Amino acid sequence: MQPAVAPAERANDIALSVVTTMRQMGVVGLPRNYEIFYEALTGSRPELTLEVVALGNRPSQQELDRIGRKYFAHNHEQTIVETARETLARELESVARLLRAERVHIEKYGAILNETSDGLKNRHALSRELLQKIVGVMSSATSSTIDHGRQVAETLDEKSAELESVKSALEEYKILAETDPLTHIWNRRAFDRRIAEIYNDRTGILFGALVLADIDRFKAINDRFGHPAGDKIIRQVADILRGSLGTGMFVARTGGEEFAIIIEGVSEHATFDLADGLRAAIEQTHFLSPSSAACGPVTVSMGVCMASEADGPEDLYAKADRALYRSKISGRNRVTAFSTVRDRPLKSWMLYKRD
Ligand code: GH3
Ligand code: MG
Ligand code: MG
Repeated sequence: MQPAVAPAERANDIALSVVTTMRQMGVVGLPRNYEIFYEALTGSRPELTLEVVALGNRPSQQELDRIGRKYFAHNHEQTIVETARETLARELESVARLLRAERVHIEKYGAILNETSDGLKNRHALSRELLQKIVGVMSSATSSTIDHGRQVAETLDEKSAELESVKSALEEYKILAETDPLTHIWNRRAFDRRIAEIYNDRTGILFGALVLADIDRFKAINDRFGHPAGDKIIRQVADILRGSLGTGMFVARTGGEEFAIIIEGVSEHATFDLADGLRAAIEQTHFLSPSSAACGPVTVSMGVCMASEADGPEDLYAKADRALYRSKISGRNRVTAFSTVRDRPLKSWMLYKRD
């Protein structure tokens, strides 16, 4: 029989295996690499373990960062920002140094021009030798300034290429910071930014709509099939929503098992039909756990509110949420438009949120 292993001893064993494996595979000892190997060796994410095994010996940092981005988006954001900040500080300092040197050089060139033009003013003292000397000094100062100018232009070209790469790293960061790591759709931060934009123009106010969706009885699903199965269902629901929406529509995961869709340019009737189509598509999907066990029917409740019915982003969200609440208390697996629940007191919605 195997002796029982205390949790602390197991943690030590894993830490040792992480260090040994990384050394054997020739991986640099960066904190973000330790995290990947730790997760891979504990086996808590089988897909991650498979990807690490597939890397083989001496994987490049680029490949490791790709895995890091996929499974630990939060850490990678930090790395991008730190690297961008360091590069920017370094590049700005070197451009400033270059411009300081350029100023000194131009000042020197100006002084030579002044001296030579002073020499030319004194016509009587102008000998052929002096003229030759002046021409010589001017020509060497001019060609040195042209050379120097060329070097400055080349260096500035290099610097602007490096600054371009910092810019694209920061753009990547912006996308990561607004992406939900579990589902890869937009997150709450992106949603808050996007919903505020609806009220920026008349078309948004007249034809914008918000749809909120919340998976029904999700706590019971987690309890019955386990958290990994719950995660997989959240991912699948996100895929259905994203896959069914046309261009110009926006879908975000705004909370645990909650989603928001922003639609523009359609009527309330069309928005309702679209939401109901999504609801039906989810109801008809066969959801499977990671071990391929059937998770039974999964349904969502939805609330719809047109932007024109609300005073602003917060009010729009609150009203769509009240419509969603109506769907919940009316039996779930349905869509409700706020226009049909306008008279409901806010108090009951607050009560629902508390339970
Ligand atoms: P209702 O029909 O009223 O919405 O019931 P519900 O059980 O879905 O309601 P509630 O909002 O109270 O429960 C949501 C549950 O979702 C609670 C939480 O444990 C679970 N949850 C939140 N985030 C995640 C996640 O990322 N993964 C998993 N698996 N579960 C999550
Ligand atoms: Mg919920
Ligand atoms: Mg729910």
